[in-house]
Amino acid sequence: MKKNLKTATLCVHAGYEPKNGEPRQLPIIQSTTFKYDDSDEMAMLFDLKKEGYFYTRLQNPTNDAVAKKIAALEGGVGAMLTSSGQAANFYAIFNICQAGDHFVTSNEIYGGTYNLFGVTLKKLGIECTFVNQEASEEEIQKAFRPNTKLLFGETISNPGCKILDIEKFAKIAHKNGVPLIIDNTFATPVNCRPFEWGCDIITHSTTKYMDGHATQVGGCIVDSGNFNWNDYAEKYPGLTTPDESYHGLTYTKAFGKLAYTTKLVSQLMRDLGSIPGPQNSFLLNLGLETLHLRMRQHCANAQKVAEFLEKDERVAWVNYPGLKSNPQYELGQKYLPNGSCGVMAFGVKGDRETAVKFMDSLQLISIVTHVADAKTCVLHPASHTHRQLSEEQLREAGIAPDLIRLSVGIEDVDDILNDIKQALDKL
Ligand SMILES: *Cc1c(COP(=O)(O)O)cnc(C)c1O
Repeated sequence: MKKNLKTATLCVHAGYEPKNGEPRQLPIIQSTTFKYDDSDEMAMLFDLKKEGYFYTRLQNPTNDAVAKKIAALEGGVGAMLTSSGQAANFYAIFNICQAGDHFVTSNEIYGGTYNLFGVTLKKLGIECTFVNQEASEEEIQKAFRPNTKLLFGETISNPGCKILDIEKFAKIAHKNGVPLIIDNTFATPVNCRPFEWGCDIITHSTTKYMDGHATQVGGCIVDSGNFNWNDYAEKYPGLTTPDESYHGLTYTKAFGKLAYTTKLVSQLMRDLGSIPGPQNSFLLNLGLETLHLRMRQHCANAQKVAEFLEKDERVAWVNYPGLKSNPQYELGQKYLPNGSCGVMAFGVKGDRETAVKFMDSLQLISIVTHVADAKTCVLHPASHTHRQLSEEQLREAGIAPDLIRLSVGIEDVDDILNDIKQALDKL
């Protein structure tokens, strides 16, 4: 593949280059295993003396092609697909944290990630401190401890639509000798490439815009290759000392810039095994082929819907970074000059019941536990995705009880607006 191709071209072509007479579309290699003619050849694969496929939990040609495409889109050196975004965030952390370790994370994060970090990782002995991402550097610095291993945030938070000041976070992380990990699900590499702002590792729920058609649940982790683990060797023994379960290899020595990704695959995926099915990766790849077109339409439609809501008297507030009145507008212009995404949050005047009545009156727009696909949809986090959080935790995660999350799709924007208008008329 030619170097320096633009994002739109990478969406269409990266990861798979058919040779003469081969299928034009990425083939689905729906096979658990791969056959070899003699036993020695198979032994060489296990001894890492030869490269080749042997078992789909570790590597599969369809999955690998899609991982390569996402790595190219983000400008990373390597990537690994997972069976969900949850798995991606878990693996990204667990690859460099073990019992006794600590990390710092923004509190403006997806509800599932909030639970994973605050509850489940804690049971594994990994603690985290939640910080307000808008706090000063000095304030955030206070959360760091000698055993802190990383800093985490979301480019655009789900569902609060807060934009992360990536440069500020990168500066804090690097001052403390730890990598910055960013969940770039909502922005996608079409609208923001966090590596260009100093982020070291990116995660995705590919379930959202990347797939874009609500067909598969999936995740991805991309490494920039920029964080020098050897500079902090004592902090990251998993990468800088021999792995007895993997031929006694030291990842940083044997794989250089690919150390983090290689450990993800050959240790974590080997042992924990949440790979996507090749069929799912094929569907994800189809979605990626039009990601650049869809993101443009999502943003254009969302901008018009946000401007309409802002002007309507029955609407109490709207949070969309593309609105000039939005406190996030400047950050948006810096990190997301082509638009953020189709997701916004707003509240209708009234109480929780009013929000529910509005949603129940919608006709074209559906109520689903999903965001970021082609079809416009709404969700009330306080009664749906985040219902396990207390009122206090809701507020901490930046979610007002009346917050309606609206994910604007790629239909004709007039039809979306008309549906919202008729539902507001019923209040
Ligand atoms: C949906 C989502 C996740 C979790 O991804 P799944 O694919 O549902 O497991 C993580 N982070 C963000 C920002 C998300 O929107």
